Amino acid sequence: MTAVYKVAKKLQAEMNLAAELAYQACLKNLSGPESTCAQSTPVSPAEAFKKIYRHGVNFIWGCSGCTALGLTVGKNTVMFRDFYSWGDTMLRNVNLVIHELGHIFDNLYTYSAAGRWYGPALALTTDLASNRDGFGPMWDYQQSRDITGNEIFADMFVHWVQGGWATDTVLNRNASSARIDWLNQNMPNYMP
Ligand SMILES: [Zn+2]
Repeated sequence: MTAVYKVAKKLQAEMNLAAELAYQACLKNLSGPESTCAQSTPVSPAEAFKKIYRHGVNFIWGCSGCTALGLTVGKNTVMFRDFYSWGDTMLRNVNLVIHELGHIFDNLYTYSAAGRWYGPALALTTDLASNRDGFGPMWDYQQSRDITGNEIFADMFVHWVQGGWATDTVLNRNASSARIDWLNQNMPNYMP
């Protein structure tokens, strides 16, 4: 499935880059023998996907009560009421599936501790979570109209995997750049 493979490839690239940077940093700070820096074996797309989506992913066809096309429940279940049948259906449906995998990603990291909630959606700054400025076109690059952290994060996750906010076509270039900066800064921290 294209969407799953694209997510797996992005996770693979991100994990292998993080491991390589850690190795390079170790070599740079080294005073002893070079062998004390461990160079980990690169992960494959499948391994990277399984590391993050460790509870599996169940795609369920049918969601009669759903108003949206897709609904993610918990850490491993995505239900679909329907797929797009208008517009660029290939792009929209791939991005719909990636958006739902973004909800699972968020749910996997969302937890409560010391009276606070943590997770990528909750970590979004107010300037990113309180509006939809900077996104690409609706339904191509936005699968929701909701101004909520979790819907906004899921749409940002689509960009993280796919790109697609060409800054020459979005109305608010500064907002777009702010979202991309947030992704570049924060997403590596979620890699195992
Ligand atoms: Zn959503």
